[in-house]
Amino acid sequence: MSRSEDLFAQAQLTIPGGVNSPVRAFNGVGGSPIFIERADGAYMYDADGQRYIDYVGSWGPMILGHNNAAIREATHAAVERGLSFGTPTASEITMAEKIISLVPSIEKVRMVNSGTEATMTAIRLARGYTGRDKILKFEGCYHGHADALLVKAGSGALTLGVPNSPGIPEDFAKHTLTVTFNDLDSVRAIFNEVGNEIATIIVEPVAGNMNCIPPAPGFLEGLREICDEFGSVLIFDEVMSGFRVARGGAQEFYQVTPDLTTLGKVIGGGMPVGAFGGKREIMDYIAPVGPVYQAGTLSGNPVAMAAGLAALNQLDNAELYPDLNAKVERLVTGMQQLADAAGVPFTTNRAGSMFGFFFSKDPQVNSYQQATECNMDHFKKFYHSMLKQGVYLAPSAFEAGFMSAAHTDADIDATLAAAKVAFAEL
Ligand code: PLP
Repeated sequence: MSRSEDLFAQAQLTIPGGVNSPVRAFNGVGGSPIFIERADGAYMYDADGQRYIDYVGSWGPMILGHNNAAIREATHAAVERGLSFGTPTASEITMAEKIISLVPSIEKVRMVNSGTEATMTAIRLARGYTGRDKILKFEGCYHGHADALLVKAGSGALTLGVPNSPGIPEDFAKHTLTVTFNDLDSVRAIFNEVGNEIATIIVEPVAGNMNCIPPAPGFLEGLREICDEFGSVLIFDEVMSGFRVARGGAQEFYQVTPDLTTLGKVIGGGMPVGAFGGKREIMDYIAPVGPVYQAGTLSGNPVAMAAGLAALNQLDNAELYPDLNAKVERLVTGMQQLADAAGVPFTTNRAGSMFGFFFSKDPQVNSYQQATECNMDHFKKFYHSMLKQGVYLAPSAFEAGFMSAAHTDADIDATLAAAKVAFAEL
């Protein structure tokens, strides 16, 4: 028995499923999860001493690679000054100004502790602002685990086959309308019926929780138009795509401006951080200026702000995004060539430093349905072959992959060499 298997057996005695977040349990691929001891740059090292080239990056935050020196040093320095004060600090202003400078649609921003908190509050704010109850989301999009948003959700919920969780009263779920991602007609149809009752459309502008599905041309623009027409609030959930698809997020890349944006992952540099922000007029509905309540004991935590700022400050680098994009291109092009050579039905998607691999016969995957129809048997076999060869991919067919600044061309070539073996084994 490996040390990881030992630890997993022990963990299951005291932690539900042995994990503190479901996808980590490897239910989506079978087998036993690896327990990580430390990580540095593009690599993670497990409890048995095996090294992995990591394309999960802690599910997105590690855009600069693991154990980034500037983030580590800023965090240490903040720890020396005290862990939490429960009062305003100057670093929160610096953080707000930094976010606003990077994402121009954000005029005011509130810090929270996770992406879930960010989306949950953005929904409440949109409802409070419009005085409407209904919200519209897309099948396969994941916005965290707040009740209203765990309806036909992606990510772990989709991996485990429970996109609609028990424990959410029908009375709550009935206000969440769900339509098809990349299908503007389905959005129009529902708005034509009840548009005046819809507070908000919330969307992952690049869907990253049903694998990686970029928006079809005109899709995000269409959502913007519909929201304008019906007086609904457009929320871009950029918890994953923020600072990743481009420095200013998917909204910069696709040039569509939401009313509110939710952020997480990269803005914490690895610490538990989220944020929501947007138009001043809407943000001023939040307490203590406005009537919509939201609060947090540890919100704007000084150690988390230090880590996040150290991460964001490093994004002001002209070479970073072209370099990330070129590396993703090298990886997905190489993977496609290897799959084609091995005769394995396969296709890829990418948006900035997010990417997705699909074991699909379709030359292009741009819908939830296509993503769920992929060959899971191929995915699982491929996954375990890559893992055995020291490449760590997300243990679910419904998660985007992430490139970091620390990955080198040599890492990508090593990944492709492993993939050649893995495709041959299918
Ligand atoms: N929104 C999106 C798009 C996400 O990908 C996630 C998490 O993966 C969340 C929200 C929830 O964030 P957190 O896990 O920090 O609560």
